[in-house]
Amino acid sequence: VGAGATTSTYWDAAIETMSPADLRSLESTRLARQLAYVAEHSPWYRERWAAAGVRLDQVDGVDALALLPLTEKRDIARAQLEGELFGPNQCAPTERIVRVVATGGTSGQPIRLGWTRDDVLAYGEMGARALWTMGCRPTDLVVNCFNYSLYAGGVMDHGAFEHLGAAILPYGVGQSRRLLDTLAQIPAEISLYATPSYAIRLAELAADVGIDLPSLGVRKGFFSGEAGLQVEGYRRRIEDVWGLTAHDLYGVAELGCQSGECEYRTGMHFGGAGLVAAELIDPDSGAVRPMVDGAEGELVFTALQREACPLVRLRSHDAVVVYTDRCPCGRTGFRFHVRGRSDDMFVVKGLNVFPRSIQEALLELRPDVTAEYFVVLPDPPPFDDDPELYLEVGRGVPVDAYPRLADAIREVLARRVGVGATLRLMPPGSIASEHKTIRLYRAYEGRQPPPALLDRVLWSSRRAAP
Ligand SMILES: [Zn+2]
Repeated sequence: VGAGATTSTYWDAAIETMSPADLRSLESTRLARQLAYVAEHSPWYRERWAAAGVRLDQVDGVDALALLPLTEKRDIARAQLEGELFGPNQCAPTERIVRVVATGGTSGQPIRLGWTRDDVLAYGEMGARALWTMGCRPTDLVVNCFNYSLYAGGVMDHGAFEHLGAAILPYGVGQSRRLLDTLAQIPAEISLYATPSYAIRLAELAADVGIDLPSLGVRKGFFSGEAGLQVEGYRRRIEDVWGLTAHDLYGVAELGCQSGECEYRTGMHFGGAGLVAAELIDPDSGAVRPMVDGAEGELVFTALQREACPLVRLRSHDAVVVYTDRCPCGRTGFRFHVRGRSDDMFVVKGLNVFPRSIQEALLELRPDVTAEYFVVLPDPPPFDDDPELYLEVGRGVPVDAYPRLADAIREVLARRVGVGATLRLMPPGSIASEHKTIRLYRAYEGRQPPPALLDRVLWSSRRAAP
């Protein structure tokens, strides 16, 4: 268990600067113990491994994990829908479970996860490592604007800040106007923990009510839940409007595995060393890809010391690019950037599109648009029609300027992303949410934006004729 001295670069120097060979050996020992535990307590995992023709003694280290089948969140969601409390991966009896959270439903059914005392401790340890990497220190006063209602960003991440030793104010979501007053009343420097889009939404609100954001004294922003900070221009916008330094955090609610970027901003340092094993796979075939500098693929995670609800080879569905060259901070593990949800990638006329590339293109048109957006795909693949793009117009753009603005949007999308779009213009502040903002709706799978959101459309371009 780490415990960084306030002046130290690392929360846990031994693990964060360990040689790759030593780490592989440590993780392989822990993996053997974890797999034996899971096989003993989860008939479901035991049977799946047997069905795949694998004996546990063949999995003789983290490099051999690929012998085991992948786990999908929906495997667990299905069992819960059929009436199980936690599902087929529950390995500790319920009396040892001290906390229950639900993981987000932005893609698919939310699932309940139980945590024992030691599981909570491990979550805190990983979180503290990542937060320390991002510059959080025990002297920080952190206002948590994540949802405390069941989700990991609330109580679980709250615990990670406490584990590090920071003072945390459990604000939660909603009451944004009162939040601005609360921040104004705190006579000290503040750190904010929120989604990037919520920081933007608060900025819109502050502009509406005439509050000068930099005067609130928020000097560090820890952002998670969305990959917005990696969007060129978005980070700068948040930093400029608040007068803070923004730090990016990556988390997977099911694993509590959190990774943060250091002061050199060379990508997210994987924070799970020794607690969670990471693999890179081809999202289509599931085949493992070598974790070499510049490799792309989807991250897959295996908890190495989980008691209540272990997860072996859980697909994250996060598409990343990996870096293994040395970071000046001295941490030895791999780093990565999230390119988008591998499920969110869609193909229009043969072209791979991540919703985030649309946001990057829209930033060119600020302040005529806010760059808050979502995409609706009306038809199943292959998409030969243009997707529907809903986006916020900037403050004060007059209605008669909408057609010209639409032309400019189409031009920048064609030039930077290579796609056309049917456009739906929305009022500023209508899309960015205090929860995770959903960027892609596959309407053909019955996933539609909320009607209240669709009611706010100001202007539409016609859908292109087939
Ligand atoms: Zn670094």
